[in-house]
Amino acid sequence: KVRTRFAPSPTGRMHVGNLRSALYEFLIAKHAGGDFMLRIEDTDQERYVEGAVEIIYRTLQETGLVHDEGPDKDGGYGPYVQSERMKTGIYMKYAKELIEKGEAYYCFCDKERLASLKTEVVEGKEITLYDKHCLHLSKEEIEANLAAGKPFVIRQNIPNEGTTTFHDELYGDITVENAELDDMILIKSDGYPTYNFANVVDDHTMNITHVVRGNEYLSSAPKYQRLYDAFGWESPVYIHLPLITDENHKKLSKRSGHSSFEDLLEQGFLSEAVVNYIALLGWSPEDNREIFTLDELIKEFDYHRISKSPAVFDYTKLKWMNGEYIKAMDFDRFYEMAEPYLREVIHKDMDLKKIAAMVKTRIEVFPEIRDHIDFFEELPEYDIAMYTHKKMKTNAETSLEVLSDVLPLLEAQEDFSNDALYATLLKYVEEKGVKNGYVMWPIRTAVSGKQMTPGGATELMEVLGKEESIARIKKGIS
Ligand code: GLU
Repeated sequence: KVRTRFAPSPTGRMHVGNLRSALYEFLIAKHAGGDFMLRIEDTDQERYVEGAVEIIYRTLQETGLVHDEGPDKDGGYGPYVQSERMKTGIYMKYAKELIEKGEAYYCFCDKERLASLKTEVVEGKEITLYDKHCLHLSKEEIEANLAAGKPFVIRQNIPNEGTTTFHDELYGDITVENAELDDMILIKSDGYPTYNFANVVDDHTMNITHVVRGNEYLSSAPKYQRLYDAFGWESPVYIHLPLITDENHKKLSKRSGHSSFEDLLEQGFLSEAVVNYIALLGWSPEDNREIFTLDELIKEFDYHRISKSPAVFDYTKLKWMNGEYIKAMDFDRFYEMAEPYLREVIHKDMDLKKIAAMVKTRIEVFPEIRDHIDFFEELPEYDIAMYTHKKMKTNAETSLEVLSDVLPLLEAQEDFSNDALYATLLKYVEEKGVKNGYVMWPIRTAVSGKQMTPGGATELMEVLGKEESIARIKKGIS
């Protein structure tokens, strides 16, 4: 049975890259009728951030990536939090098994000694390979150090000769020289396992079949492979995802301003649109289709179609997609989300639902509502040049004339509903023998002070009400 896991570390907001891993893990499991599991990787106590676990749960809930198993849903593979797993002694037990096999060893080197080790530059990165000093300690020395309570770590023993090969679904077989691999720490001096060790033990003991993660882990994958081999375990299918970059082809980071799921929600995006967009950051369906619900993604998602070329996070495209979701959204839900933005701008007594209906088809993200509606609250200063519109054949002179003509009609008008106003104005249009726009444009401009408004002249007047509309028209004439 296919079993995947999302294994976030509680270190803060949910990075878009992590959410993509979670989504793909979820889709792989659900596409195959398998299980999706949540595991909290909190062994790095220094990076732990208060509240980050709640962010993980909230994100999974808001995106609809429902886990079948996790700390809050026992599926028989618990505990699901690494710090709790540690207390069961599982990591130490497996580390000792490796020591016995000669695949790991105790290391008692202190900070000073480690700091004195040679650093090398490999692929532009400075790395320090441990020199295996403690591999050569005798059994007696080790026993004595342990008995004396000397702090230690446990390191993986990687030979200096030979090569290691592992397989990734996207990258194929990758072979590296063992001499380039560091004897990485498996158990730290505080007794916690490193992520590097815990992920292997956990993925195996929790029967994980497919591992999806960012390709920053690609360089560690050979070391993980050696651990699987040392234990005689079958490794899961690895899928290392391409880097997500911003529009400038730089790694998507906090500095981009929209690198986390929470950032995007704050910027007025809908979680469904974000999920849909993120699905396409590295994966594409057979046709060019772009809009998918989560259920549709489950059906379509074939992980063999994930691409390894860098995925560019295109904010403009996401906005477009969000706009499509807003248009298709049920009105009541839209109104619920739009209301805070409407109330922020509008304090007068107006029909906010009518305003919401006008902007629904015109925005891509919620905060854009503000700029569309500010004139309802207060008429902005405007220039009479705004009355000029080539297509409507209007200018300041024709407009002032129209406004003077319609003012008494509006004053006499009892029913200020959109339809009634429209009927009255249409009558005037017909009598005068002009085009609609010739009359509507100046009215719209006068009541809004803008050239672009979310509704037509009569829709705006209906919301503004008789008194305010007339005051604005009078102001337009004066
Ligand atoms: N805890 C790791 C992270 O959050 C998980 C990486 C993995 O999926 O193996 O980056």
